[in-house]
Amino acid sequence: MSECQCRACLRGQTVDYGFGTMSADMTRMIVCGKCGNKRCPHATDHRNECTNSNEPGQSGSVYGPIDPEADRDTKTRDMFEEAR
Ligand SMILES: [Zn+2]
Ligand SMILES: [Zn+2]
Repeated sequence: MSECQCRACLRGQTVDYGFGTMSADMTRMIVCGKCGNKRCPHATDHRNECTNSNEPGQSGSVYGPIDPEADRDTKTRDMFEEAR
């Protein structure tokens, strides 16, 4: 297995904090391994093309304005804050 750092791959991993676990994609700033932009669709999923761009609203990126996945992440983060 290669050490892919895209959000889709990290989501399949969990990190133990001692007071619970959360998916690894919530624990770090995820940026594209090619261009280093967090809004690059490739940072969200390695199957997406690297656009070499940090423009908001890119198709395939969780930072896109109409992606329900971004909503889910925000809710998960809120739950994590309340758990503390
Ligand atoms: Zn990946
Ligand atoms: Zn990229």
